[in-house]
Amino acid sequence: MLKLSVGSLLHQPEGTKEEFELNESIKFDIINGFTTDSPITGTGQLLKLPHEINVQISDLKTTVPAICNRCLKHFVYEINVPLISGEFIIDLNVRNISKDEDVFYVDKNKNEMDLTEFVRSELILHFPAVQVCFLGCKGLCDKCGVNLNDKTCNCKHLTEVKVTPFKFPNSRP
Ligand SMILES: [Zn+2]
Ligand SMILES: [Zn+2]
Repeated sequence: MLKLSVGSLLHQPEGTKEEFELNESIKFDIINGFTTDSPITGTGQLLKLPHEINVQISDLKTTVPAICNRCLKHFVYEINVPLISGEFIIDLNVRNISKDEDVFYVDKNKNEMDLTEFVRSELILHFPAVQVCFLGCKGLCDKCGVNLNDKTCNCKHLTEVKVTPFKFPNSRP
């Protein structure tokens, strides 16, 4: 998986930087039922801090096959994140951790950092909850089933429902 060996960096002075290339050809489960089908790539940099190692990855990219929620076509969703950044804690005893903080740790027994959950959490954020093959996809006719992107049909469709904005009882104009 996405593991980095940081044995030498751990012994370097504060401020030392190390670069790495991410290029992992693995089937990577992002979220229920969605798995990558191309390598996870990006350019990374590690920065040694007093109690943490800061990780930055720019141009984090991968692709995820999905099915359009409107027209049911198979398509490939491209995830492209300009920059992610996070901290991996080296010394648990020194660093205070607040409750809501998403924390990652350097495995000091193996001298490695496992980036799997760090990368996964960012990919989830950039994967849409509703997947559509393109923004204007018209989907399938709910009566005859034709793909309304390719054809029009003669079915009667419900006219668009007008939505009146909800007003709070005491709201001022
Ligand atoms: Zn579609
Ligand atoms: Zn129809």
